[in-house]
Amino acid sequence: MTSQIRIAGVVKESIVDGPGIRFVVFAQGCHHHCEGCHNPATHDLSGGHLVSIDTIIAEMKKNPLLDGITLSGGEPFLQPEGFSELAKCAQAAGFHVITYTGYTFETLLAKKDQRWLRLLRYTDLLVDGRFEEEQKSLLLKFRGSKNQRIIDVNQSQLKNKLILSKMN
Ligand code: SF4
Repeated sequence: MTSQIRIAGVVKESIVDGPGIRFVVFAQGCHHHCEGCHNPATHDLSGGHLVSIDTIIAEMKKNPLLDGITLSGGEPFLQPEGFSELAKCAQAAGFHVITYTGYTFETLLAKKDQRWLRLLRYTDLLVDGRFEEEQKSLLLKFRGSKNQRIIDVNQSQLKNKLILSKMN
């Protein structure tokens, strides 16, 4: 079990990274290299710093106003053990979990990597796909470009087909 993750940083309260008030954790490391990426400082796999999952959960529990946690990036799926453990602990503490990824939902499922599937299991909503500059829109809720989707992971797994969240 991994008890530490490599992160670029956190935002303790955000209202723009999902519904309600959310604690945001920015994974360090990304290899998608989307043109126009809003967060290039998160790409270096050895940048950022290590933090323990216990520290993050303890920090979240200090704030009674928090609705959930958002795992952003960087690419959380490059550290699937640590981020799935964080997501699991957050859910167990009553928090809603959103995970952002540059992979598509279909790609994540097709690889059949148990570590990726575990992170999906503890994710309530997945915002998927690379940021596409030519599909950029400022009108989208919680997403940067029109190709990205907000997927209801629980419903999709229950019904065995892709179910979009009503937030799209
Ligand atoms: S997936 Fe996200 S962090 Fe990675 S290059 Fe694309 S926009 Fe940037």
